[in-house]
Amino acid sequence: MKWTGRRESSNVDDRRGISGGGLAVGGGIIGVIVLLVRFFVLGDSSAINDAIPQQGGPQQEMSAEEKKLDDERASFVKVVLADTEDVWNQIFSQGGKKYVEPTLVMFRQSVQSACGMAGAATGPFYCPGDQQVYIDLSFFEDMQNKLNASGDFAMAYVIAHEVGHHIQKLNGTSDKMNQLRQRLSEEEYNKYSVKLELQADFLAGVWAHHAQKMKNILEENDIDEALNAANAIGDDRLQKQAQGRVVPESFTHGTSAQRVYWFKKGFETGDVSQGNTFQDPSLN
Ligand SMILES: [Zn+2]
Repeated sequence: MKWTGRRESSNVDDRRGISGGGLAVGGGIIGVIVLLVRFFVLGDSSAINDAIPQQGGPQQEMSAEEKKLDDERASFVKVVLADTEDVWNQIFSQGGKKYVEPTLVMFRQSVQSACGMAGAATGPFYCPGDQQVYIDLSFFEDMQNKLNASGDFAMAYVIAHEVGHHIQKLNGTSDKMNQLRQRLSEEEYNKYSVKLELQADFLAGVWAHHAQKMKNILEENDIDEALNAANAIGDDRLQKQAQGRVVPESFTHGTSAQRVYWFKKGFETGDVSQGNTFQDPSLN
């Protein structure tokens, strides 16, 4: 993805230095699977009220090289957030509405949100309660090193997915979901949760479509990177990794194929009106 030299968003709350300032060491593949299952299976924000307490394991100050890489990731996140602002401001104003830009909180290890206390193990999430996106930059390292979902555009896809949840907050979809959560069984609710997640993937695709038109951001293979990430982080893949079998009842984000399908549909059409996953017969 071409990203250097572009505007960085100012809607970023950088709390990386506040929560300790060291890099957590270790964790291993089991830690990553726990992390991913918590993020992708339990849902972005539902998991964080009972976030795993921070382990007091060994911590290291970052080397100069690690710090440089971390700051570069932070710049990248700010540029992608600015790209989402430009695209969604345009789409909203074309529809006669005003886009309220979300704040993105960058943290390390743990953070307090209106949805509860979150640790690095929570993964990136959106909290509708304070309309903020939360990202621990170490998640991107895990995507690259342990998930085989490498590439900067794969990271952009994750950010655009979380911003997609913000769009769902602004247009009332997540509030409706909250009401459903009160009166449906967990299994029934999960079906809606999948639709919500796939719609966020779709909205990430819509963003990519328009960002490309406005700013020519894509390089060869970028879309493959996003599709690969969508494929790698589908619930079926993650559950297989974690427990060796697939349990469809507890899916909340959709299968790999579904995530790829909806991201692609958003990217190809760029048309928000085609993303009604709630009415899609194949998802009922
Ligand atoms: Zn999500």
